[in-house]
Amino acid sequence: MQLDGKVALVTGASRGIGRSIALMLAARGADIVINYAGNTEAAEQTKAEVEALGRKALVVKADVGDTVACEKMLEDVVAAMGKIDILVNNAGITRDTLLMRMKEADWDAVLTTNLKSVYNCTKAAIKYMMKARSGRIVNISSVVGAMGNAGQANYAAAKAGILGFTKAVAKETASRGITVNAVAPGFIATDMTAVLSDKVVDNLKAGIPMGRLGAPEDIAKAVAFLVSDDAAYITGQTLHVNGGMYMD
Ligand code: NAP
Repeated sequence: MQLDGKVALVTGASRGIGRSIALMLAARGADIVINYAGNTEAAEQTKAEVEALGRKALVVKADVGDTVACEKMLEDVVAAMGKIDILVNNAGITRDTLLMRMKEADWDAVLTTNLKSVYNCTKAAIKYMMKARSGRIVNISSVVGAMGNAGQANYAAAKAGILGFTKAVAKETASRGITVNAVAPGFIATDMTAVLSDKVVDNLKAGIPMGRLGAPEDIAKAVAFLVSDDAAYITGQTLHVNGGMYMD
């Protein structure tokens, strides 16, 4: 399989899109580090599923918004697995409300967990990737980072920030054999979107040419491509996976 012998760290891999990415990369031969914030039961479930695919799995509880915790996480990963080949910055949260009502805490929480996290984990990981002169980084952005969305100024800012970060770091690391790309999902059926009312979902579907929300696997397949050898000459790009709701 094309990812045989690779070690992949997926942040926020206990549930949703991250879990699906972890399983997809494991199915293609990678050993997986499953990062999560608090849901130990779900993280252990992902671990069991990775192991059932015949791959090694390590669970690491760490807040991706915490710089020191991320440095330690990468040290622990390299100590336990020997190296880090692939980093998928997937962990994320929402604190949706109109800007007029948005509290500073809502802004700070989303920017820290969704954007500072990408700085934290990428900086800690490229230290090892630079030495190895190879690596693959995929950052999970959002269609909202490209289009904007009322009620999500904090989330849109963080997800747009990821796109600029991706391009800058792609330029810094290309000569060392590292690629850095973003995947921008549309609306995907996970716990994050399960809070939306039927009416909101129907309105969303009306704006999606394919007429449905995406599945986590739709995102995982795009990530699996970008971390593979087939994507060796692709860096600094954003791959939109959204059923046609936004076309770059
Ligand atoms: P989800 O189902 O809510 O899962 C979020 C994951 O992130 C969980 O594994 C959670 O861990 C982890 N997490 C949250 N805060 C964390 C922290 N501080 N440190 C470490 N891990 C943390 O979300 P999802 O829908 O799969 O979304 C995954 C990514 O895709 C996010 O970046 C999201 O913004 C992006 N995205 C989602 C959609 C969508 O429609 N669903 C669309 C575009 C982009 P615990 O289980 O421990 O809480």
